[in-house]
Amino acid sequence: MIKISLSRLEKEPVVLTGEEPPEFLEVEPTEQFYVSAPIRYELNAAMVTGGALVEGFASTAVSGICGRCLYPVEDEKVRTADLTLFFDEIDGIEELDISEDIRSEVLLALPMNLLCDENCAGLCPVCGADLNEEECDCVIEPPEEKDSEENPWGALDQLNLK
Ligand SMILES: [Zn+2]
Ligand SMILES: [Zn+2]
Repeated sequence: MIKISLSRLEKEPVVLTGEEPPEFLEVEPTEQFYVSAPIRYELNAAMVTGGALVEGFASTAVSGICGRCLYPVEDEKVRTADLTLFFDEIDGIEELDISEDIRSEVLLALPMNLLCDENCAGLCPVCGADLNEEECDCVIEPPEEKDSEENPWGALDQLNLK
């Protein structure tokens, strides 16, 4: 839980640093993709007109398998954007729980696809060669063209009548 005591915040700005275990994100770990480092946060909180302002960032790391070439990927760093979170309607609240806000920001920052490298060439779909390591002579036919030749309705599809 990431909480800020509002009575303390009333008196002075608060620096909030710490970490939560990977489970904090509630991401089901798989062999392909799992959160492999604590979620660390460095936040500054202050009272401002109309509410509380929290700024800073959070970071973690993910591991798993490259989605293109199946090589292991270890501890790829993940960092949120610089966050500016504003909380109004805090009257009568003792503690501001910002766990959900930080969780969703870190989830947003997680890569959709884990890659060993942005430019990973992946595996050849025909022979399985690792195209980062070697070139192969396979001819990969673009499936779309083939479809329109063999399918009598191909021309209709192109007119978007389906
Ligand atoms: Zn790769
Ligand atoms: Zn090949």
